[in-house]
Amino acid sequence: MGGETRFDVEAIRRDFPIFEQTMRGKPLVFLDSAASAQKPSAVIDRIADFYRNEYASIHRGVYQLSEVATFEFEKARGKVARFINAANPREIVITRNATESINLVAQTWGRRHLSTGDEILITGMEHHANIVPWQMLCQETGAQLRVVPLLDDGSLEPGAFERMLGERTKLAAICHVSNALGTVNPVKEMIAAAHAQGVPVLVDGAQAAPHMAVDVQDLDADFYAISAHKVFGPSGIGILYGKLALLEAMPPYQGGGSMIHTVSFEKTTYAEVPARFEAGTPDIAGLIGFGVAVDYLAHIGMDAIEAWEKELLAYANERLAEIPQVRLIGTAPGKASVLSFVIEGAHPHDIGSILDQDGIAIRAGHHCAQPVMERYGIPATARASLAFYNTKEDIDVLVRGIHRVLEFFG
Ligand code: PLP
Repeated sequence: MGGETRFDVEAIRRDFPIFEQTMRGKPLVFLDSAASAQKPSAVIDRIADFYRNEYASIHRGVYQLSEVATFEFEKARGKVARFINAANPREIVITRNATESINLVAQTWGRRHLSTGDEILITGMEHHANIVPWQMLCQETGAQLRVVPLLDDGSLEPGAFERMLGERTKLAAICHVSNALGTVNPVKEMIAAAHAQGVPVLVDGAQAAPHMAVDVQDLDADFYAISAHKVFGPSGIGILYGKLALLEAMPPYQGGGSMIHTVSFEKTTYAEVPARFEAGTPDIAGLIGFGVAVDYLAHIGMDAIEAWEKELLAYANERLAEIPQVRLIGTAPGKASVLSFVIEGAHPHDIGSILDQDGIAIRAGHHCAQPVMERYGIPATARASLAFYNTKEDIDVLVRGIHRVLEFFG
């Protein structure tokens, strides 16, 4: 991806009011979008507007305001369905975040289908959100977790996933993009391989949705989990995509209001999908904000976003390669715009604190992926993650900041 693209990043940055801020007296250089992304005015304003003018409880109101709020909420569900090309908005279950989406599948589908001796196949690059719910399920059911190993560059060992799919495998749960390494997994091929053995696949799409067009039908994913806050929407809201037939065969997740059809002290019957999985009052404004965020992304175009981020990543790789003390963790071909790195003799937290003095926000730690850190024999990394609102200048500032780190520790 050598050539310059005509991506008007300056116009895009004007959509994000946070970039009017200075940090420590310097312009904010925000390189932590993999943790949580910034929000465009369209999202912020729509949420405020909804609370000002349209807010009411949804689904059960018999008055106009409630009808408006319900309409807007369900319209947003439809927008999110279109964003990932789901065949039907009923396949979109509203959750709090990707973590809850994965727990929902573990606790409903998983409890129903797993027993002693069964296996769940994950990869060695999973976020804790795609490890711990399965471990808990294994403890409850006597099933076992199996883990596809990683190569040194952060990609999956070739052929290992296919080899490890066996008669006992009941589910594969794999990330689309790794938050700690940036690796983009060949999920479409992995899903096809799993399906050839009759194994359904949950994809943790938390880090893919902000960077590339996701088409759940083309992928043939059985479940796909997303958090709104990583796709420039509000925090506290996410979705689980599930194929309708799978969702319809699943028992409820939490009990309470909204998820029932009828309740008596003797017997309760449950609502249709997706309401069956949506107990209690949801974050109504949150979903509406999520809908605006995906509209905003669609307006820019996910292909344009992906191309710009590739250009930024190539530039960042080039600039970081000028600093021999920087060792990148995760260099898989075709990786996404996550730059995890270590510097001999400098703890990632110290790197983060020194960069912060220059207004640069990066992440330091294990990134909720402790097994990844263990795989590479390091306690933590510094991680700069890019989004489409970042510029080459941001990378230049980062590189200058790293030189300051080296002076400090040199
Ligand atoms: N999966 C991946 C790959 C992530 O990067 C994250 C968050 O960093 C999650 C899952 C969990 O997302 P959330 O905390 O929004 O549930």
